[in-house]
Amino acid sequence: MRKLNLRQLILLLSVSTAVLILANTFYTSHKTQRDLLIAQTLEANQAYASKMANSIEDFLSAAQQQLAFAAQDVLLAGNNLEKLGHIANRLNEQTDSFNSVFIVDTSGVVIAASPEAVGLFGKVVMSEGAEQALRERIPLVSKPYVSVTGRLLVFISQPIIDAQDNYLGFIGGSIYLHEKSILYSLLGRHYHANDAYIYAVDSGGRIIYHQDAERIGEVIVGNPVIEKVVKQQTGSQYLLNSHGIEMLAGYAPVPSTNWGVVTQRSLEATLSGMDQQMLAVAKYSFPFFIFIVWLVWLVSRWISKPLWQLARSAEELDEPDINTQISSISVWYFEASQLKRAMLRGLAGLNKKMGKLNLENITDPLTGLINRRGMQIALDEWERQEQPFSVIVADIDHFKRINDEFGHDVGDRVLQTLAQHMQAASRPDDLVCRSGGEEFVILLPQTETAVAHRVAERLRKRIAESICPNVNRPVTLSLGVASWPCGSASIAQVLKNADIALYAAKDAGRNQVQASQTACE
Ligand code: GH3
Ligand code: MG
Ligand code: MG
Repeated sequence: MRKLNLRQLILLLSVSTAVLILANTFYTSHKTQRDLLIAQTLEANQAYASKMANSIEDFLSAAQQQLAFAAQDVLLAGNNLEKLGHIANRLNEQTDSFNSVFIVDTSGVVIAASPEAVGLFGKVVMSEGAEQALRERIPLVSKPYVSVTGRLLVFISQPIIDAQDNYLGFIGGSIYLHEKSILYSLLGRHYHANDAYIYAVDSGGRIIYHQDAERIGEVIVGNPVIEKVVKQQTGSQYLLNSHGIEMLAGYAPVPSTNWGVVTQRSLEATLSGMDQQMLAVAKYSFPFFIFIVWLVWLVSRWISKPLWQLARSAEELDEPDINTQISSISVWYFEASQLKRAMLRGLAGLNKKMGKLNLENITDPLTGLINRRGMQIALDEWERQEQPFSVIVADIDHFKRINDEFGHDVGDRVLQTLAQHMQAASRPDDLVCRSGGEEFVILLPQTETAVAHRVAERLRKRIAESICPNVNRPVTLSLGVASWPCGSASIAQVLKNADIALYAAKDAGRNQVQASQTACE
């Protein structure tokens, strides 16, 4: 398997870190938002329930007051049925408080009713509310009950008591729970978003107002919120409603009647806006995220580049320009720069060793001149480069005699001395080689035959005029000169031509220079 490179690793690390941080941010912000929304909704519901409970409380006390005033009017009207009817009508029509108003005497006979259409005038009412009012003779708000006209209602009444403290009956108003009533005006008007609703219960947990009219009259059991609110508690909490839907409820009691008001909003509706919001957050942060990934990509490239380049160079250590290649790598941080230095140092050491090995390989140990192999390498290179050159071949005259006369060691000394002369007589670009035994070759790049001839002549003269140590007489050379290119002749051919010229020099009496006579065609 191919190994991941540093850049990919940095990228992987950074991007996964970014993703994790982003996910964590999303998660925590989602959770915080959710908790906040829930807390706010609970608080808002509680506040609204309290406000509505206060409204009902205010309404009830105002209604009782209206009834109490009317009770005074009833005393003034005496037995005047017309006036009593007028009082009932006024109470019913001038205020929104009641759906119907009755004035009832001590025996339970309706002596005034509004609207007249309820048809109870002159009849004895035997409803729960009326019976309770006649029995208890105090201001009352009844429990919800089904009236003689078949309606579910709540009855609010005030006793009629004259100045002598005689009980004369009561005046009362009913609130029809299933029809448009003051409760609807108070509770239904403002709070009817379809995901939120409000309802009110009496002290027994019976629904006296609900936006879903069908549920009015239903007694709710097992609802923790209702259990608390009928115990006069105010608060808010999460609960499952009767349909198993998660709800956030706020509740508050109506103290005078032990009623309770509950406002609820489904959790789902509460949080629905949040998904949009999170989506928007995601949408807005996405380009930034991409930007970060792009930035990380750039930086990871920047960080990994020197190491990547060094690693690639490490694979190409045998390339000729590897040194410049490594030197040109720009390293801008510690590890990379250490690596670069170590690689360059290692490379220098290696080159030095290799160079030494190579040099030993191409150097003649006796004279320090380039040996035959070195000469061949140079010639191959010059051939490749099409480098024109001249060649001087030199052979010591009667060297055998020197060996015979003075011994082999002295012969070696003579070879060394001549080698020094040759090197001293040549230019830095010239290559002085010992091509074998007591034969030498001098390669002169960019040099014409005539010039090479002069160099050879100078060398011959210099040696012929100097005394070799331990020999006590001059040693002479015979030299042949040729140049390449020479027509279509190969370098080997040219060397041969120089040899031919050298033999010619020997034949002509030694201690002289001969140029190649071979025509170049
Ligand atoms: P000429 O070239 O003038 O014809 O005569 P020469 O005596 O030089 O001829 P030849 O080529 O026959 O002899 C070469 C001699 O060089 C033979 C050999 O003993 C000697 N020689 C070759 N290599 C070495 C060496 O490394 N050291 C010594 N001392 N002598 C060497
Ligand atoms: Mg020879
Ligand atoms: Mg010789």
